[in-house]
Amino acid sequence: MAEVCDYEGSSYRTDFWEGQGREYEHLAERIALRKLLPSAGARLVEIGAGFGRLVDLYDSYRQVVLLDYSKSMLRQAQDRWGRGGKYIYVAADLYAMPFVDSLFDTTVTVRVLHHVQNIPAAFQEIQRVLKPGGVYVLEYANKRHLKAVLRYLLGRQSWSPFAPEPYEFVELNYDFLPAWMQARLREAGFAIGPELAVSSFRLPFLKRLVSPRSLAALDGLLQGPTASLKLAPSVFVQAKAEKENAQAEGRGFFRCPSCHRTDLIEAEEALTCRGCGRGWAIDDGIYDFKQPIAS
Ligand SMILES: [Zn+2]
Repeated sequence: MAEVCDYEGSSYRTDFWEGQGREYEHLAERIALRKLLPSAGARLVEIGAGFGRLVDLYDSYRQVVLLDYSKSMLRQAQDRWGRGGKYIYVAADLYAMPFVDSLFDTTVTVRVLHHVQNIPAAFQEIQRVLKPGGVYVLEYANKRHLKAVLRYLLGRQSWSPFAPEPYEFVELNYDFLPAWMQARLREAGFAIGPELAVSSFRLPFLKRLVSPRSLAALDGLLQGPTASLKLAPSVFVQAKAEKENAQAEGRGFFRCPSCHRTDLIEAEEALTCRGCGRGWAIDDGIYDFKQPIAS
């Protein structure tokens, strides 16, 4: 079993995003996502949605599921995007998502694979919940970005940015080789579509000189044309689930993460699985599949 990176109780939003000089990256990521997201669909899930930084980009979807391992992050997302309506908040492990097969038109992971120890298992699970032909938009940190390549060539960095295996620079923080990532996607049954090079200007002096908006606009212009160089610190990919149209649509929504049965009875404060009898709490608008309710 792979270890899960847990942001429970963390102040990720204020420590990492707000007033931390990452406005340029934030805007550049939004430009990239807009380019790769299918413009509309019935149902989208953002896995590792955190505090809901990107949620307004999913406006054209009828239903949006925000999944995160951290309930405290989902609380922040609820405060921002409201309870009920088109948003469904789910606390769960991405390796065992509580959804029936082929539920989603679109899945998204941004700044998430960075913390994923077992990429093949994660891709397999994401493929399972996607409809045939469904789209997976992913972002990952690239280990052969320009700075790493230059540092390596100048002898200032011991690890090779060209070696295939993921580079764990801090515990549960990984950078990946693009070719390695593409191979894992193909193995999991994805066809690789357009790719984008993002945050190429993540350089302190540039960020001081140029406004975040201008820098992001320039980033947006170069994301497509420079993608094949694979030198940007962040790579976005649009992948398509190639699978047989096995399941009939419209069969249920949740699936028990323990026994995989799909008949769960919903009451006010819990879902109860008819297969194994486990109860899963509905805690003030958050479906909590991290631990079954103690009986
Ligand atoms: Zn069950």
